[in-house]
Amino acid sequence: MQRWMAARARGFGTSIFSEMTALALQHGAINLSQGFPDFAGPAHVKQAAVAAIQADHNQYAPAPGLPALREAIAATYRASYGVPCSAEHVTVTSGATEAIASTMLALIDPGDEVLIFEPAYDSYAPTTVMAGGVPRFVRLEPPAALGGRAAGDATRWWFDPAALQAACTPRTRAIIVNTPHNPTGKVFSRAELELIAELCHRHDLIAITDEVYDRLVYDGMHTPLATLPGMWERTVTINSTGKTFSLTGWKIGYTIAPPPLTDAIRRIHQFVTFAVATPFQHAMAAALTAALHDDFYARLLDFYRERRDRLTAILNQAGLSALPPEGTYFVMADIRGWGFTSDVAFCRYLTTQVGVAAIPPSAFYAQPETAPALARFCFAKELATLEAAAARLRQYTAPVAAS
Ligand code: PMP
Ligand code: GLN
Repeated sequence: MQRWMAARARGFGTSIFSEMTALALQHGAINLSQGFPDFAGPAHVKQAAVAAIQADHNQYAPAPGLPALREAIAATYRASYGVPCSAEHVTVTSGATEAIASTMLALIDPGDEVLIFEPAYDSYAPTTVMAGGVPRFVRLEPPAALGGRAAGDATRWWFDPAALQAACTPRTRAIIVNTPHNPTGKVFSRAELELIAELCHRHDLIAITDEVYDRLVYDGMHTPLATLPGMWERTVTINSTGKTFSLTGWKIGYTIAPPPLTDAIRRIHQFVTFAVATPFQHAMAAALTAALHDDFYARLLDFYRERRDRLTAILNQAGLSALPPEGTYFVMADIRGWGFTSDVAFCRYLTTQVGVAAIPPSAFYAQPETAPALARFCFAKELATLEAAAARLRQYTAPVAAS
């Protein structure tokens, strides 16, 4: 079998999300691993999809996306963030996952280097490699409160500007910035984004920003890198409606980019998926348009803030130190409180013995053995789900067999 596999596929294992969800199902564990809501998406959005199917919007959409959806996305970014975009800058993709892959294939040539902060969402490095590029990693350091260096930041994930600069070479073509950041929950500050923008200008880099959690920033506001001076021209902004509207299975994502970058992305996108499911595009156009005029995003944030605070408290009470994340629906907890140093061993133990599944963040590192001793828990869940997890964790507050 192996002799049929292309060299580029050989290095890729099974995604950690599929692996942990399968393990959770097998052991009847409460699944706080893979990031997806365990509650229903908004009724008015589901009804809009049903209506679109009944109205026979069931044939191919235009390859770049339905004009009404592209206009609604552009209007949202103009109104919320002041990004100077219109429908012509938007390309609708099969989730942010396809947006990431199509962007890489569109903009990275063999031998080009791509700067990636790690821990990194698991598709950045493989899609860089698929394009023939070379990932170059820059560490995000944990806060001292989660076992990071005492000389670093006490409560925030941070990076060393000198390390970022040192990772940049004459072959560097692009930098990927994920803010709010999965799995750490970090929200890049304005000062950090300015530093990255300055690097992009100095080395003529393309910025690729993954903003799928832009509506889940608990203090302050999300800042798209594209809004910093001179950055619109060189930035591809990637987002997904899956997180915002709690409908991850619909896979409606998008890119926003100036015409030369959009032109390149669409050339790839047309041969990857051609077009994305038409009725779901109609429904998302309606959802985004409605959200321009009501308090949907504010209610979403309140809903998640309550769950963030509750899960952080649950983990701390269980002896797994955690800080409330600045953004996303993930919280990282220190597993040393239970005597573990290996996150894989901890997450296997937790899933199979305690009945709560989490993600080992070492899967987000190029060299997994260098990952800090943390586990990622998802709070996109009913409060009852979090309380059920709390009940299981309470039975194991005393240190258990370490590994
Ligand atoms: N980027 C990040 C940072 C994510 O967390 C996810 C999924 N949770 C994606 C991209 C993929 O998004 P989608 O499901 O829209 O493909
Ligand atoms: N992005 C989600 C997470 O971080 C999972 C997405 C997936 O399963 N591909 O958990």
